Amino acid sequence: MKYSTFGKTGKKVSRLGMGGMRFEREFQEKDCVSLIRYAHDKGVNYFDTAPVYNEDRSESIYGRAFSEMDRNTFYVATKGDNALPAEEITKHIERSLKRLNVEQIDFYFLWCVINPSQYKKALEPGRSLEAILKAKEMGMVRHVGISTHMYADDIDEIIDSQLFEFMMVPYNALNFNQRKDALMKASKYNMGTVVMNPLYGGIIPQFREIISIFPERPDRVVEDALLFCLEAPEINIALAGMNKKEMVDFNIAVVEKSEKIPPEAQKKKEALISASKSDMCTSCGYCLAHCPEKINIRSYMEIYNHYQLIGSVRETRERSDWYHQFGPLYGDDKRPSDCTECLACEQECTQFLNITDRLKWIDAHCR
Ligand code: SF4
Ligand code: SF4
Repeated sequence: MKYSTFGKTGKKVSRLGMGGMRFEREFQEKDCVSLIRYAHDKGVNYFDTAPVYNEDRSESIYGRAFSEMDRNTFYVATKGDNALPAEEITKHIERSLKRLNVEQIDFYFLWCVINPSQYKKALEPGRSLEAILKAKEMGMVRHVGISTHMYADDIDEIIDSQLFEFMMVPYNALNFNQRKDALMKASKYNMGTVVMNPLYGGIIPQFREIISIFPERPDRVVEDALLFCLEAPEINIALAGMNKKEMVDFNIAVVEKSEKIPPEAQKKKEALISASKSDMCTSCGYCLAHCPEKINIRSYMEIYNHYQLIGSVRETRERSDWYHQFGPLYGDDKRPSDCTECLACEQECTQFLNITDRLKWIDAHCR
């Protein structure tokens, strides 16, 4: 296993983190415990969970595994809702400590901040962050970070605030443009960085035949997707949900193979990937400033990407709903139907996409 210094926390964390969200439903608790212990024996020392994962079982499963492990040999990360009154968060932290069977939570995240207004609310007196910082003062929590799904531009403010020692964002070979700048800036500020969804929540392995990260080696798409995250100098930990010992072994073998690469080589890789996905939006955002109607073209094109990958109208509609309810389209009243077909965006699109047709498709099939 390779390890990395987790920003200001100074802790040496494994480059591969174990996610606690995707244990198989039919798994008995003892199977999950055995898997956690297996990963730990193989050198994984960063374990991620949250109160509601796995139908609210994840923290307790980890707690059982931790009771059999030397406390000096692992770190546990869990999370607290960003939208709760302080007293509720305090209760959640107390409950997490109990379930996890530890006296102190190593890394505690202000959880799943999806837009700037949520972030501001979480910072208000009497709300989530106040309670988390208090828990740190009291020794219940060792280090405080934030997990967010916002795009890089909005994350800037969070990094500038220097309130957090580390940050977790979704990041992979299909969406790297959304948050790459934020990860680079965080790393420059010596914040620890964790990426979730390095395999796009399972979509990359599921559709390995159609997603070629590097066209010359389509059979190695999963390995390449993981390497893409592990080789980026600005990333400390790639978090993966692992259901089988073979998955643990595979991921660790990829970590062993990974070497940090210089920014120029990384840029070359990104260009190759973008070229191989020539009919998909790469979330570069270059079109945005050119739309007179201020339509969030990038987000709509990401929704359409989903349709291209999955091919299911129903699942694309669900994706669109998520974008509106919790994601980057939350509170945005501009719709695809506001498009006047001026074509300014298409002239700027780095992927030369037929944006207007895609907007029409979304207008017809999603809300
Ligand atoms: S074609 Fe539509 S989406 Fe594109 S810039 Fe014009 S109004 Fe905006
Ligand atoms: S310029 Fe094209 S590829 Fe870039 S975000 Fe806009 S639609 Fe996507």
